[in-house]
This record gives sequence, structure tokens and C-alpha cells, in this order.
Amino acid sequence: MKNILTKKSENFSLKKLDWNKVQLDMKEKLGSDIYESWLKKIDFVEEFNNYILISVTTRFIRDWIASRYLDQILQIVKNHKREINRIEFTISDQKKENINIENKNKNYEIDDNKNVSFIKDSFFQYNRIDPNKNFENFVIGPSNKLAFEASKKVSEDLSHYNPLYLYGGVGMGKTHLLNAIGKETKMKKKVMFISAERFMYQFVKSIKSNEMVKFKDYFRNTDVLLIDDIQFMNGKEAMQEEFFHTFNALIDKGSQVIVSADRAPNKLSRIQERIKSRFSGGLVIDIQNSDYELRYKIVKAKIDEFKLNHSDTHNLSEEIQKFLSSEIRTSIRELVGALNRIISFSRIYNKLPTLAETKAILKDLLNLSENKVTIDLIQTIVCQFFKISKNEMLSARRSRYLVRPRQTAIYLAKLLTSKSLPEIGRSFSNRDHTTVIHSVKTIERLRKEDQDLNSNIDNLKNKILYNKENEI
Ligand code: ADP
Ligand code: MG
Repeated sequence: MKNILTKKSENFSLKKLDWNKVQLDMKEKLGSDIYESWLKKIDFVEEFNNYILISVTTRFIRDWIASRYLDQILQIVKNHKREINRIEFTISDQKKENINIENKNKNYEIDDNKNVSFIKDSFFQYNRIDPNKNFENFVIGPSNKLAFEASKKVSEDLSHYNPLYLYGGVGMGKTHLLNAIGKETKMKKKVMFISAERFMYQFVKSIKSNEMVKFKDYFRNTDVLLIDDIQFMNGKEAMQEEFFHTFNALIDKGSQVIVSADRAPNKLSRIQERIKSRFSGGLVIDIQNSDYELRYKIVKAKIDEFKLNHSDTHNLSEEIQKFLSSEIRTSIRELVGALNRIISFSRIYNKLPTLAETKAILKDLLNLSENKVTIDLIQTIVCQFFKISKNEMLSARRSRYLVRPRQTAIYLAKLLTSKSLPEIGRSFSNRDHTTVIHSVKTIERLRKEDQDLNSNIDNLKNKILYNKENEI
């Protein structure tokens, strides 16, 4: 047995990392927009014992990638080769690095021919509107009705609400609505649809190739500017500066600006106050979490769409449709993803999956579904276990017989839910997030030192998970 194991791990480490596979995974996990903008051009240089060396063209790109995506990239690399525990960068284009990004007023020399091809290669290429994301196939429910109506209104009657700011969590349909607006308006108007990631990438690229003037003109000449995921513009002062001027110029000349984000304008972090306040001055609408009815309607609509496109009529049982609508709650993107998997299954096996098979195909999505375990449930079970009341747990009293259960519940909340530290703190009578950290660390340490406590926590964990399973 031992032999086999050693052999296996030796084999494993001999295997070279396949960068192409890493790239495919990066594209899938981080999304094609981020991939195309930042990750695609990473060159793989060399693999060492426990780290890899990759190369990017500029220091800016290195910092950008390192500050935002490095953890996720390393995780992906580790999935392919678990020995790798570090990523190092080299810069391939040192010479051109000396251009000062902040120095925007410099007089740029412009080579016209080059400009044309640059614009062609970049802006147009990314100004793609997906015709399959339109108003007709956007299913409406109470959570997204206002966002839908405002988007429709804006496409019919430009600059009615200006800017229009749509926000909501991932996979709620923001990009779908932006696409729909783009599709409606592009027949009659000059439309630019770009993600904030792309906007910034083009901005940097324009500076480096001395084409800031073209960049500005291009954006300032649009009638409808759609910017997706504006929260990614955080921190970069020079870009925010440019964006702010573009934004004002557009609004002044009556162009329509539509922005999407994952949070409300005042919640955007590291975005200039004046930009936030201009956003707040427009029409701000949120898309909320979907309810069961909306998800059920979307499942039906997607199945119909599928039937239209393929002559073989796959019809998923009502039981499975209802199961999906009630279980895949995190986002509509996941719901659509789940349906696609079921469709692939039925193609491969030439039959529709049973409920048990559906559960197996969607195992990871079902586990991911949020709110499986609530803090409230954790508190209830921990209180039962330690025979204290919930009032005592949530009180400010610091008697030892209360402190340990409280810390345990906080620890389990961190372990078993996806709530952030401040959110957990709030659920424990508004305790500070530093208290949450302290509790988590204390229990982590005690688990190592104290066998009894460790097994109590395992019991509690199982109890909580078991309870939840039975409730569903
Ligand atoms: P977001 O940009 O908010 O993260 P997307 O617009 O990319 O989300 O939506 C994720 C997926 O769900 C897309 O395939 C989109 O077409 C689909 N989708 C979202 N909301 C709806 C809806 N109300 N009706 C139909 N499809 C939807
Ligand atoms: Mg989106």
C-alpha cells in the first residue's frame, strides 16, 4: 500500500504543468472578460520545484494581476499540480515601462494608420453585443421588474433616466439587461458596450501606445455608453479621472450612460466620491434575489428555448423542474448552468436524468447553494448543546460558561456559512469583527490543544449539517 502511494506521488510530481489547461480553467473560473483582458497574454516561462515563473509585459499588468487574481490563479495551478505553492513574475517589456500613466496631458504624437488598426483591433472587437440576451427572453418577476422596465424605457427614450445604474449580486441578469439595451439601440445610435475591466485595459494600452486622444474621442463620440461591472474600477485614480471626464462629457451632450455594478453607488469602495454622487444622481435600481416563482418561470422558458433550437423534445419532469427552482437559489446564472448540464447529460446518455441523477450531476452546485446553514440555526444548536439560553449567548456577559459557547457558535458560523466577519458580528448582538476574529482564532487553537473540545465541535458540526439536511 505504502509503495503504491509513494509511487503515485512521484509520478505526480514528474508530470509537467500543462499551461494550456491552466488557461482554460482561468477562463472558465474567472470569466472570459477578465481572461481576455488580463490573463490570456500571460506567458508561461518555467516550472521549478515548488513554484512557477510567468511573464507579463508590464509592471502595471503584473501588479494588477497580483493584487486581484493571484490567489485564484494559484488555486487553479494547484489543482493541476499540487506541489506548486508560489507564482513568480518576470516583466518582458522593461524598456517601455517608463511611461508615466498619470502624465496624461503630454502631447502625443499620433500615427494615423496605427490608430486605425489599434481601434479596430481593440474597441470594436470588444464592443460585442450578444443578440441572445434580449428583452424578449428576459423573464420578469418582482425582483427584477423595475430594472427591466427602466432598461426598456431607456432604450426607447434615450436620456430619460441618466445615468441609469443597475446593481445586484452575481448572475442576477445585469449583463443580460445591458446587452438588451445595446441590441435595441444599436440600430439607430452609436453604442459602446464595455466592461469596466476592458475600459481600464484599453486605457492603459492607449497610454502606452500614445493614443489617449483616440481613446477619449472614441468614448466621447458614443450616444449610448454601457459600462458593465463598474466596481472593478476601484483604486485606479488616473482611470477614474478619465472616466469621470468622459462620463460628464457624455451626460452634458445628452448621451445615455448605463452602468452596472454589484453594489449600490454609495457602497462602491475606492471610487471617487464625485463619481459615486453622479451615479446616485441618476436612476438607481437594484435587482434583488429571485423568488421561487421567477426561477420556475426561467426554468420553463429555458426549456422552451431549448426545444425551439433542437428538434428532439427533451422534456424535463415537473418534479425536476421544481427541484431546480427550489434548490438552485444563489443566482440565475447557476440555474441556467444547471439546466445546461442536464441538457448535456441527456445528449450524452440519450435519456433524461432521474431526480437522483440530477442530484448527482449538480452535486457541487447544490452544495454551493447559499443559506444552507443559517447563523440562527447554529446559535440554536450550540445553545441546546451547552444548555444556555439564546439570550445568554447574545448578551454582553463574559462569564466563562457563556464565553466558550459564544466563541464556538461564532467559529461555526465562520466555518459553515459564507457570511463575512462583520455580518457574523452583527448576528451576535453587533459585536465587532475583531471579536469574531478573536473567537475564530481561539477555537482554532483550542481544537488543536483540547481533544474533548475538538470532538464536541465535530459533534456540533454534524448536528448542524444533519439538522439542515432534514429540514430541506
Ligand atoms: P450578472 O451580469 O448580473 O452577473 P447575467 O446577466 O450574466 O448576470 O446573467 C446570468 C445568466 O442568467 C445569463 O445567461 C442570463 O441570460 C441569465 N438570466 C439572468 N436573469 C435572467 C432573466 N430574468 N431571464 C432570463 N435569463 C436570465
Ligand atoms: Mg455581469
